[in-house]
Amino acid sequence: MKKLLPTSTAGSLPKPSWLAEPETLWSPWKLQDEELVEGKRDALRLALHEQQLAGIDIVSDGEQTRQHFVTTFIEHLDGVDFEKRETVRIRDRYDASVPTVVAAVSRQKPVFVEDAKFLRKQTKQPIKWALPGPMTMIDTLFDAHYKSREKLAWEFARILNEEAKELEAAGVDIIQFDEPAFNVFFDEVNDWGVAALERAIEGLACETAVHICYGYGIKANTDWKKTLGSEWRQYEESFPKLARSNIDIISLECQNSHVPIDLIELVRGKKVMVGAIDVTRDTIETPEEVADTLRRALQFVDADKLYPSTNCGMAPLSRRVARGKLNALSAGAELIRRELLE
Ligand SMILES: [Zn+2]
Repeated sequence: MKKLLPTSTAGSLPKPSWLAEPETLWSPWKLQDEELVEGKRDALRLALHEQQLAGIDIVSDGEQTRQHFVTTFIEHLDGVDFEKRETVRIRDRYDASVPTVVAAVSRQKPVFVEDAKFLRKQTKQPIKWALPGPMTMIDTLFDAHYKSREKLAWEFARILNEEAKELEAAGVDIIQFDEPAFNVFFDEVNDWGVAALERAIEGLACETAVHICYGYGIKANTDWKKTLGSEWRQYEESFPKLARSNIDIISLECQNSHVPIDLIELVRGKKVMVGAIDVTRDTIETPEEVADTLRRALQFVDADKLYPSTNCGMAPLSRRVARGKLNALSAGAELIRRELLE
C-alpha cells in the first residue's frame, strides 16, 4: 500500500557554512574549481541525509549546487549576457540589477542532470527536482532581443522541457516548476502562463508539480505582504486554470499565511502539496501545529492527494532551524496518518 501523506520540502535547504555564507541569499561560494565541485556534492549528500534522518518521504537535493533558484539555471544558457545589466522591477515588488537577453536563448548542455543522477545513486526513495518556471524566469531578466515577455517565456518553456526530459531519464520521480510570478501577473497567467508551463511538461511521463508561494522571508517580500490585506486570495486567479491543466500537483503555502484554506477547493482532483511549515520565521512549529494545518486542508483535498510540505524553500534559515522544521513536518504528518487509520 502506498504511504499516506508523503512528506517533502518545497526545495531548498540551508548550505553548510564551509560551502557558502549561511542565512544569505545569493551567497557567494567559499570554494573554487575542483574543491567547489566536490563541496557541492558533499553538501547534497548532507542535505539528503538530513531529510532521511527527519523521515521525509520524497527527497530532494536541497538545491545545494545552485546559488539561486532562477539565476543558476539561466547562467547555463546561451543568449543571456550576465555582464550587460539593467535595472528592472522583479515581481512588481523590488528593483534589481539583472542580466540582459541579447540573442536567441538556448541550452547547449544539461544544467542539473548530472546532479540528479548523483542524487539518484544515493537513494531509492522518490526524488523531486525543482526548476524555475518560464514566467518567473523572464521576470528576472531584461529582454533586449525578443522584446516580448510571452515569446521569451515560450522559448524558456522549450528549454525547460529539454532539461525536464533528461531529468526524468535520470530517474527523477517528480519535476517541480517554481512559479511565484503566478501570484503577481494574473492576466499573463491566464493568457499564456499556464500554457507555457504545459509546454514545459510536454511528453513527460513522470509526475509534475507547480510551486506557487509568497516567497522567502526577505524584506521585499514581507513589505509586499503588508500590502495584500487580511485575506490573500491570489491563488483564486491561477487555480481554476491550473485545475484544468495537465499539471499533477499544486504546491501552495498555508502555514501562518493569510491564504484562506478553502481556496484549495479550486484545485479539487489535483494532488496538493500543502505548506505546513512557515519559512519566514525561526520559530519551529510543533507537530500539533503542523497537524492542525493538514487537518484543515483535509476538508478540501482527499487524503490520498494530500502531500505535507513547507511553504517555500528553507535556504535562508539556519541549519538547526531547518532541521527542527523537517522533524516537525514529519511528526505532524504522522499524527494525521494515525487519525486517518483509526
Ligand atoms: Zn516558494
